[in-house]
Amino acid sequence: METALNAGVEIDLPKEQAHYLGTVLRKMAGDDLRVFNGESGEWRAEIQQVSRKGGRLIICEQLRPPAKMPDIWLCFAPVRKHRNAFIIEKGTELGAAVFYPILTDHTQFVRFNADKARLQAIEASEQTERLDVPKVRDLRVGGIEVMLKDWPQDRRLIFADEAGDAAPALTVLKGMEDGPAAILIGPEGGFSLREREMIRTKSFVTPVSLGPRILRADTAALSLLSLWQAVRGDWTV
Ligand code: SAM
Repeated sequence: METALNAGVEIDLPKEQAHYLGTVLRKMAGDDLRVFNGESGEWRAEIQQVSRKGGRLIICEQLRPPAKMPDIWLCFAPVRKHRNAFIIEKGTELGAAVFYPILTDHTQFVRFNADKARLQAIEASEQTERLDVPKVRDLRVGGIEVMLKDWPQDRRLIFADEAGDAAPALTVLKGMEDGPAAILIGPEGGFSLREREMIRTKSFVTPVSLGPRILRADTAALSLLSLWQAVRGDWTV
């Protein structure tokens, strides 16, 4: 829902949402729904009318207040289609705020369907009872150099570096200051030497190791996101 939520607000549903409610979920006029928009918490709504052509809801009362989500981005090179879907679904469950796909020197799967990923993020948010939906950015072309050039300097970039000389992720995260952060994971073929050198010279980058085994990109992304949540994110509350 993108509309501001408040008791008494009526919301017209477009055809597709009405179809989903009426035909897929088999909801009828008078049925309750839980709705959220990422800002106003979770609200109970009642369906006033639903048909194939459209529908209308009325917002009733707030069920949960807005929750502050951890400010953690996940930057990754696209991998195979089903593994991208896995990263989006599990990353959403684990509380990523933004998915940031980038093309790198060794990216083999250069297609990333951001619209599809947005739908996967909505589904995973609903399933996990998040009160917001993570943002999925379009695939960033121009490579690592463009990403680093535009990087917001106050956001720490935690670089999963499989080369073996970075400190263990847990040790690094424990010593890190609180603040906006992002995780950077390479493609199946890893980062090129050129990219790795470029990344490691930046003052906002902190390299970390995820142990002696080379993990698949999706495993690395979700392991590091879990560690960050446990040490710096909302698993600590
Ligand atoms: N270098 C590899 C290759 O030649 O195929 C493997 C790349 S790995 C499959 C994909 C990404 O996961 C890496 O670029 C890195 O960001 C992350 N990764 C995997 N294992 C890691 C580890 N043990 N420590 C840190 N990062 C790791």
